[in-house]
Amino acid sequence: MQMKQFGLGDIVEMKKAHPCGTNAWKIIRMGADIRMKCTGCEHSVLLPRSRFEKRLKRILASANEPDAME
Ligand SMILES: [Zn+2]
Repeated sequence: MQMKQFGLGDIVEMKKAHPCGTNAWKIIRMGADIRMKCTGCEHSVLLPRSRFEKRLKRILASANEPDAME
């Protein structure tokens, strides 16, 4: 299974869309818990990292240059 790279400021798509109909979330805090904000309605949620990784579908936009990661 491929390791998903995500970081602060990234826009991610989750397996389930937010009830507002948007499925694009911005990561606004990284740590043991991940805080992300719905880009549609600005609602923010806090998820334990393990749950976040399970729900993560793909990275839509990376805040960092991919080449700068390594
Ligand atoms: Zn929303």
